[in-house]
Amino acid sequence: MKHFGYNFFAILGVVLVAGIILCCRTTCNNFKENEHMYKVNSPADVIALFPQSVKEIEHITDTSIQETKKTLENLIAIKPQDRTFANTFGVLDRISLSNLSIAANVIHVLEMVSPDKALRDAAKQAIVKLQDFEIDYISSNRSLYKALEAYVDGNAKKESLTDTQWFYINETMDDFKRHGLNLSDARLNGVKQLQKDLAVLALNFDTNIAQDNSTITVSKNDLQGLEEDFIAALKKNENGDYIVGVDYPTYTNVMQNCSVEQTRKRLYMAFNNRAYPINESVLKDLIAKRDQLAKKLGFNSYADLDLSDQMVKTPKNAENFIRTLAEKSAPKAKLEFKQLVSDLPQGVTLTKDGKMKPWDSSYVSNYYKKKHFNIDENLISHYFPMEKTVQGLLDIYQKFFSLTFKEETISGPWHEDVKLIAVYDAKNVLLGYLLLDLYPRDNKYSHACHSTIIPATFGPGGEIIPALSLVIANFPKSTASKPSLLKRSDVTTFFHEFGHALHALLGRTEIVSFAGTHVKRDFVEMPSQMLEEWIMQADILKQLSSHYQTGEQLPDPLIKRILELKNFDSGYYVQRQLMMSLLALQYYADGGQKDVYKIYQDLAKLMMFGVDPQPDAHYYASFGHLTGYAAKYYGYMWSKVFALDLFDEIKKHGLLNPETGKKYVHDVLGKGGSAEPMDLLKSFLGREPNQKAFLRDLGL
Ligand SMILES: [Zn+2]
Repeated sequence: MKHFGYNFFAILGVVLVAGIILCCRTTCNNFKENEHMYKVNSPADVIALFPQSVKEIEHITDTSIQETKKTLENLIAIKPQDRTFANTFGVLDRISLSNLSIAANVIHVLEMVSPDKALRDAAKQAIVKLQDFEIDYISSNRSLYKALEAYVDGNAKKESLTDTQWFYINETMDDFKRHGLNLSDARLNGVKQLQKDLAVLALNFDTNIAQDNSTITVSKNDLQGLEEDFIAALKKNENGDYIVGVDYPTYTNVMQNCSVEQTRKRLYMAFNNRAYPINESVLKDLIAKRDQLAKKLGFNSYADLDLSDQMVKTPKNAENFIRTLAEKSAPKAKLEFKQLVSDLPQGVTLTKDGKMKPWDSSYVSNYYKKKHFNIDENLISHYFPMEKTVQGLLDIYQKFFSLTFKEETISGPWHEDVKLIAVYDAKNVLLGYLLLDLYPRDNKYSHACHSTIIPATFGPGGEIIPALSLVIANFPKSTASKPSLLKRSDVTTFFHEFGHALHALLGRTEIVSFAGTHVKRDFVEMPSQMLEEWIMQADILKQLSSHYQTGEQLPDPLIKRILELKNFDSGYYVQRQLMMSLLALQYYADGGQKDVYKIYQDLAKLMMFGVDPQPDAHYYASFGHLTGYAAKYYGYMWSKVFALDLFDEIKKHGLLNPETGKKYVHDVLGKGGSAEPMDLLKSFLGREPNQKAFLRDLGL
């Protein structure tokens, strides 16, 4: 459930959030300097944004780089006495809306989702070029830094600037320092090289995960417990055996429902060895070089560097937060385990020392839910057919946020599955577009994420520039006899990613670099996790559900049982999140030579009660957050505290109350990253945030 705000332009905590050039497809060269050309005022504009050939990718990369070089040269050439906010920091900020940024975002999207290998490869090459350019000409550009400094030390003191402008100036200068601009030339060169190497390593790590198309081959007999239509939809090899992949819908279904242990075990091993062994060495290099980078920049460790501009500030604070929460959730996790093993399904046995085998845990949990709560997630999914659920979700958000969504008919910018939704405000002004790419495919980014393509901001005359966002997910496809049916966990994922998208579409700020989701990373999961809570409310669940055959809503007794089940495994869930948070922190703690395998095994043994990690499983090789989120995985739990506090407050006023929606947009979403998150929270809550709602909600 990642949020992407591209790292390769992640200077200024902020980013060249990108956009693209409509007129400039393959041959057009009529760039107007400093002008944002990629405007999306119609569905055709959105489609035209995406290059269809290798040549186009190369062209928009090269031309937008040249254009930005010129912009920067002009910025640097201004005499100190002539500097203003607008011609110095303003110009830098607008690079986030330039052809370069938007091209970069579009190209990054293609690298993640294009079914065409040639395009993906060209996109990857272009990204490396763009990353190098960003490092050489922006984040490590001493002349640029000096130009900005000249303004800060000179005319900034005379110009009357807003608080937000000062916030931007301070964040930017801090970020430059965090990129080594206050170091000597020799040291800065070392930093630059490391950053370039790291950008490539991170990209390789991510690509290796996306392009792992591992499968296992099984007979029909090995698939007992799974529904006929699911089996019928599986591909077969020439011997008539079934091919089972590691994509999320397939994996989840098999792990929860297949009664054949050997099948679960084999798929578990395939899933937990995605991108292994290739990513083990990439990860080790990444850790070693990040450690070197941190040391060169004067930090104790990469975690120290990575957290220094976050809400949490230091790894020590993050660890204290985790350990306190781990203590609070451990008793519940232990109790849950005891409950589960008290009634194991037929054929499941514990190890000699009373532990559960990891490929049994989803199966056991599903069995327990069915038997003791009379909850069958497969049957519940019958109430959430994709089309109706999307419509229901849109209805809820339309009401709360006073928006109108309109699905546009398009013919795939990169694949026929892709859908496009136009978003209008209450006055029918186009706020932007949202692309949805929701089904698994080979070589597609395998998790769920949101990506900003064009940030929400204003044009020079104060006019609204329509934003563009993309949600990528991997939900079950329709089969011969059933439409695409969403599990409750899929619906939650959808609400989560849509929460990021709304943040991006409604977070319209004057400073482009603060638009929408360009907030501190340990705050970015707040709006998304807050909206997840909606579907744990009886009336919302009812409103959202519609049986795919009968159109009936979820019956009240079933809703009651679903809600009773809410905290069924919250102890386990919190422990797992905390374990992954610690894993990320320990990987990036002081020291460049890490035994990534042992650290993972030790932590899993320590924190995952009753379920031992398998010696042959290498989950960390596909832990995609280790690149973009780096040491900041704790941010999920950290921001969930705020999410639940806010949700509690919103609930008091009614979940579909548009007045509360307005206030939430005004105080929080609409501000993007233009102020400290704590100030946004306080202004909405009218008090300091606290952990009460969080602990109560998780039953801790
Ligand atoms: Zn997220």
